[in-house]
Parts: sequence; C-alpha cells; structure tokens
Amino acid sequence: MKRRLLAWLACPECSADLRCSSAGAAREELHLARGAGSVIAPGAASSEEELREGELVCAGVGHRFAVRDHVPRFLPQATLKSAVRQTRESFGWEWQRYPGSLDEDRDIFMVETQIPAEGWPGRIVLDAGCGMGRYTLVALQLGAEVVAFDLSDALLRLIPRLGGKERLHLVQGDLLRPPFKPGIFDIAYSQGVLHHTSDTASAFRRTAALVKPGGLLSVWVYGFPGSYRSFSSNPLRSDRTWLRPFLPLVWAVVWARLLVSDFLRLLTVRLPIHLLYAFCFPLAALGAVPFVKYLTFSAHPNFRVRWIENFDWLAPPFQYKHTKEELRRWFDGEGFSVLRQLAHGVVPKVGMLGRRS
Ligand SMILES: [Zn+2]
Repeated sequence: MKRRLLAWLACPECSADLRCSSAGAAREELHLARGAGSVIAPGAASSEEELREGELVCAGVGHRFAVRDHVPRFLPQATLKSAVRQTRESFGWEWQRYPGSLDEDRDIFMVETQIPAEGWPGRIVLDAGCGMGRYTLVALQLGAEVVAFDLSDALLRLIPRLGGKERLHLVQGDLLRPPFKPGIFDIAYSQGVLHHTSDTASAFRRTAALVKPGGLLSVWVYGFPGSYRSFSSNPLRSDRTWLRPFLPLVWAVVWARLLVSDFLRLLTVRLPIHLLYAFCFPLAALGAVPFVKYLTFSAHPNFRVRWIENFDWLAPPFQYKHTKEELRRWFDGEGFSVLRQLAHGVVPKVGMLGRRS
C-alpha cells in the first residue's frame, strides 16, 4: 500500500480519517519507473515507500484494519453474513480459474464504459468490484491512476503487478461500506458487479457518492425484461436490429430463459462450489452448439471462458436484474445527468454513463 492512498481512504465504520499504526509495520522501498502519462503530482518522489504489512487506525473511535500482503483489508471477517461470505468465496474461487487476461478485454472495456480512450490519462479512477482486475489493467494501460476495489481474494491476483506501478492501488472491502472519502474520484466504473451485492440501489448510491462534481460514473447491471413497453424501447446493438420485427417473440424467450434460470439457481446457489463447477462443464460444451447455446449462460467462443461464465451466472447468491428506467432513476437521484446508454444484444444489459453535476 502506497502512502498516497491513505489520503483517499476513510473508515468504513465511522467515516473518520485513517492513519498508519507504526507498530509492527513492514515497509519496502519500491523504486518505481515513471511511465509515460504518469499523473503523480509534481514534486512527488520517483520512489515511494510501500507498506507491506501493518495496521490502519481510524481517528474517530480507533477502528483497526489490517494491511496484509500490501493490501488494506476492510473485511470484519467475524461479522460477514453467510451470503456475503459465499459471494466472496465463489468469486475468489472462480477468478483463480479464469484463463488470464484476454486480448478482448480492452475492446469490451471501451464499449462497456462508454468513455473514449482520451478520457482516461491522468484521471483518478475507482474500479468498483474489480474481480481479478481484467479492466483495472486496461484502465492502467490507458494512463489512469486506478484504485482496484473488491470483496473477494480474486483481487490478490494483482499484487505481483504492484511492483513498478505507481498508479495502481489495491483495496479489499465491501461495496456497501466503501472505505473511501466522498467525492475523490474523477471516474468510477462498475461493470456487471453491483447486482451481486445484497442491495444494488444502495451499492450504486455509495459508489456514486465517491465521484467528484463533474466526474463520470459508468455502470452496467444485469437487465430485467420487464414490461413489453420497457423491453421494446431498449437500445439494441446494430448487429441485432434485424430482430425488431420479432420483438414480442424475443421478449417471451428472454422471460422464459429468466424463469428457467431463476428455477435452476434455487438449486445451484446451494451446491458446493466444486460440484457446481463440474455441472457447468456440460453447459459450456452446449455453448458451442448452434441455437442450443442460447439456452446456456454463455456463448463465448472460448470453452474455458464459457465454463466460467456459466459458473458466474449460477453461483452467486445475489443476482438481481434491473430495467433501464430503474438505473436512470438512480442516476437522477444522485444528481448525475445520463450522457450515454449501452446498446446490447437480445438479453438486456442495462448500462449508462453519467456526469455528476
Ligand atoms: Zn472508525
């Protein structure tokens, strides 16, 4: 953990400032190469002290949080509810099996955040729910200074990337109790994550509060088919517009798929992780069969990605779906004006980019 991060952190329990407790702290001097597009303030040292092990103490009533293996941990283990613990474990387990960072990550990131490449250099960015950090690495590559934030141990896959990266920070904690000061990020993005918390709207509000006035918030969540009126006005991707004349049928199929999926999930969220992973193997195989693949939860061309994406759909205890009308209300409610809406395929993926006024 770099000292610089401390200025952005706040106690998740009482919002007070945090300071490093000197007792038992282990530090390393990381000699960091200054890369092109660096955003560290003028006068900052070219090497920065890195806290490897230690403790953060809040200036309020003295809440304490460990820094282990370079990462400040804001997880009161003993009080984690079982569903939150299950969410944490399923994503931690899953991402360790993900076949690395794919070439397509950057393309997906550019489309889904809806922020052009020139919008990233020099920005202080929150990756809210970074998982194993696929998109963290893209945002870094684009020249941003990134705080990668996640509940699960998948985040720890980024630790080896800390060396030589003065623009990368890792924080482990809960999106419903984010350990940051309000209004500090130029950009916050959350790609397909908020619906896996126990309360999507609340996770949205808490993330939105971290964005500076004039800053950007990009979010997408799983879509709910909702009424036909809502469904038929969803923004379709250009390669799917041929479906327009068949929309009533498409709407019925999406609803049927949702009901089947919710029925399956009554069982799958209760299965031991290893058993569920085995169950997803035949689903991944079916994902290569024309037409049949739309009955599974991933039609990705890579078998291992399909396997993990099926698991990703069936494992998490929380998986809420939302309409674009709901998401827009959340943006409006937090004082954001919506700049862009994400176009998607048959199954709605509700995404928006907003600017805080
Ligand atoms: Zn506190």
